[in-house]
This record gives sequence, C-alpha cells and structure tokens, in this order.
Amino acid sequence: MRHLITEIQSLGVQVQNKITGRKSGAGPAEGRAFLINNVPVSVPIAADFVSNSPYSLQEKDPGYYLLKNGKPVSDVRVVPEPEFYGLSTEDGIAYQRIALLHGKDCLATTVLQRCIHWKQGRKCSFCATEASLAGKQTIEKKTPDQLAEVAKAARDMDGITHMVLTSGTGDPPGSEIPYLAKCARAVKTHAGIPVQVQIAPPPDLDLMDELKEAGVESLGIHIESFDMDILSKVAPVKAAIGISHYEKAWKKAVQLFGVNQVSSFIIAGLGETVSSIAWGSEFLADLGVYPFVVPLRPIPGSRFETAAPPHPDVMKPVYEAVAKILRDKGLSTQSILAGCARCGACSALSSYENNKKEDLICHSARNQSEKSQAFKIRREVFVREQGLFNVSDQDDNDPDSIHLVAKIKGKIIGTVRVYQEDKTSDHWIGGRLAVEEKFRHTRAGSNLVKEAMKRVQKKGCTVFTAHIQEKNIPFFLKLGWSPIEPVKPHFGQPHQKMQADLDLVLKDIDA
Ligand code: SF4
Repeated sequence: MRHLITEIQSLGVQVQNKITGRKSGAGPAEGRAFLINNVPVSVPIAADFVSNSPYSLQEKDPGYYLLKNGKPVSDVRVVPEPEFYGLSTEDGIAYQRIALLHGKDCLATTVLQRCIHWKQGRKCSFCATEASLAGKQTIEKKTPDQLAEVAKAARDMDGITHMVLTSGTGDPPGSEIPYLAKCARAVKTHAGIPVQVQIAPPPDLDLMDELKEAGVESLGIHIESFDMDILSKVAPVKAAIGISHYEKAWKKAVQLFGVNQVSSFIIAGLGETVSSIAWGSEFLADLGVYPFVVPLRPIPGSRFETAAPPHPDVMKPVYEAVAKILRDKGLSTQSILAGCARCGACSALSSYENNKKEDLICHSARNQSEKSQAFKIRREVFVREQGLFNVSDQDDNDPDSIHLVAKIKGKIIGTVRVYQEDKTSDHWIGGRLAVEEKFRHTRAGSNLVKEAMKRVQKKGCTVFTAHIQEKNIPFFLKLGWSPIEPVKPHFGQPHQKMQADLDLVLKDIDA
C-alpha cells in the first residue's frame, strides 16, 4: 500500500467531473482526500500533470476502484464533504471560509491570511496564503470565537478529532503568536480537541511559552529544506532566519511540548539531494522533532503552481531512509497528538514506518532530565565502581559537550559525551562512555561510539580522539579506532590515546 500511496501523491489520479477538490489555498490544494484502507491520502486531481497519470477512478457501490492503466489495484473511498460546510455564523460567514476539513478528521485553518513577507515581496515560492483571499475562499482574520464555533460544530457533526492553526507571519515577525495562543485557548475551551499551532521561529523564542500556556499540544516549526542554497532561493526569509536559530527554537519547543510533539515539514522536490533530506531528518529526529517529509504540492497562486511533484521513484528511497531514522531515534507518528504529522494525508511517510519499536536507540540528551540521568550513570561507573574520581566526574568540558544517551524501552542505560577541542578546531574529543552494568552485554556501548562518530563528523570534525582505558582497547580496535600514543597513566589508570576512522561512519561497523 505504501508504494501505491507514494505513486498517487506524486502522479495524481484522474477523476470524474463530479469529484471536485479545493481550487487553491494552503496545504493540500487542488486535490481531494481519499481513504485507502481507512488511511487518508491527499491526492492531486486537477493540476495539469494529472492528465499524464496512469491512475483513475471507476465508480462502484459503495466507493470506487482505483485503476492503474485501466486495471483495478485497490478499493478507495472519497472523503465526503463534511456537514459543517453547510453552516454559517450569525453574521453570515460560511463555516468553510473559516476552517476546512483536511484528511479524514483534521480541521485546519490559516488564522491570519496576510503575511509580512508577501507585503515585502519576499514570499516563499511554495506558498499561496494570500491567493486564497483574492479568491474570496476565506476571510482575512479569523476570531477566537469564530474558530471555537466552527471547531465545536465540526467535532459534533463530522467527528473532527484535532485541529491545525497556521498563520502568515505577523508584522513584526512573532507578533502573530499571542493571537494564535488566544485562538487556541478558545478552541480548547469550547471544543476540547488537541491543537497544533504552526509558526516560524520568532526572534523572541519565549513567545512560544504562551502557546504552551494556552493548552496547545503540538507545534510545527517548518524549515522546508536543509539544502541552504535551495532554501535561499525558494524561501529566502527562512534561509535568513538561519539553521542555528531554528535549532534553538526546535530545542525549546521539545522542552515545552515534548519529544514527538514538535515537527517540521521537509519538502521533497525543490531541487535538493536525497542526502540533504536524510541529513536534515536525522538532525531533527535526534532533537526529538518529527521530520514530516512531503512531496512538493504545486499550489495554484504560488510561484510553483506549474511545477510537478517529484517522481515516485525519487520519493520511495526518501521515505525508506526517513522511516529508518524515525525507528532509530524512537519517533513515531502514532503518538503525535495533533497536526499535519498526525493527519498524515500529505505524505506517505507513516505507511513506511515500521511500528515495531527498536529496543535500543541512541540520541542526544533532549532535556535537562535526560542529561541528569546520564550524569547519574557516569557517577555510578566512574566514582562508585571504578574510583577514578572521589565525588563527581563532571568537569569544565561538560557544559560545552554534546551528551548522547542510549535507551532501552525508553529508559536511559548509557551515555557518552563529545566536545570540540576549542571553538575553531576540527578536533573533537570523546569520553565518559558509561553503560549500566546489567546492560553491558547489549550493543549500547558500540552504538554510542558509532553515534558519537557520526555526530562529530556532522559537525565538521576531521580528527576524533579519546583516552581509552586499557581493558577497552580491543573493543575500540574492533570499531576501527587506532592507537596514536603509547599506553600511559590518565587519572591514575593506564589509558591509550586512540583516534577514530571517520571514513567508517557511512559503513556498518561491526562490534
Ligand atoms: S497533512 Fe497537514 S496540510 Fe496535509 S491534509 Fe493533513 S492537516 Fe492538511
């Protein structure tokens, strides 16, 4: 089924005239949501490229056959138009100009339909936010009361289970966030459904606290591409924000909303390489951010309106690579409370996820509590068990280190740290590898070392060294490390300085 979803999202489906989709707007514009085995799939049906698709629909009772080159390949249902579309507010605004059904049970709206970047001629190429206003399909500013009224009706009449609040960027950027918080609070109070808010990282990241206080469950902070050359062409304002500010925003958001409740769109088909998508997905997943990879969806009114989505043969290996990253980092669409990654209709990614959880995963410590647990394991090993330090093994390198943790069934059982020799150096130093005694028979130690090698290489490291206790030298030799100094005392115990072979990062090192 996953390949079928990938193909119809890229190629589209030719449909009879009576099946219509949205004409423009954000998200899954110029398309329609189908259900395949009850999985919502948003599919292009009206763009020019769809006329070349081998896929079409044939009516049956009930539902449709999905045909490929005239032969049935699956049963599908078309998500019917929701009943709440028939209602209007007291002052005569149709509910569907306030919010729309997305996928099968998600209510979505662009709260503020104006964007400072459109006004300044710096709009993102894939965005059509203000184009929907010109077409009078929506209103410029939705009020908290309107959103609460529509959300309640959509929940009661059509079984909506969660809601997305997105917005154009305010003037100044970030000024839209308190208003989004007000809207989210109204929806939560009157409809009681989980809400995802989507924002650009504001200059003042503390504004995100207001969303948490309003009861928002999930946050989308979308970078769209990790290829900075591409990003500066298609979304110059996002490129100008810079990846390090995005990283700070994602980290703070994970602290506030939790692992798996923060996501970022990554759009495939902007001209980037597959490796940049995999690199970015791993970067996000390591932080606890869900990389929501979607094929480019050319939206009428956007600069990309005449483009075509990437070919399915491009998307399949992308999804496979990202699904593996999700598994390795312990993320899954299943625990996302609200938003696009929960809806999933614009991407085939969730159908590639193997819901069998990895028993052993490694990632950066994602919050202070995980860091404290890592320090506790180190103290147990280096102070109590080995007596290398009297009270604590923590030192001046810890504040600047990246602390990696290994988890088994969600519990931290091991750790290692890496740090740069100095701020301008490409020499990184590893150390404090510690695994709880009862888990030393697992691959936690070797996975932590491999993860550390991968991490420093991503940071531009060319020389990665560590002082290895004499008894652990064979273990590091097996992982491709080489001695670079003779064995000598270090903290009163024999150690050998060794160097990693970072060329092995891309290979599967067996140990
Ligand atoms: S994934 Fe997001 S944009 Fe796509 S249909 Fe679902 S809620 Fe809408």
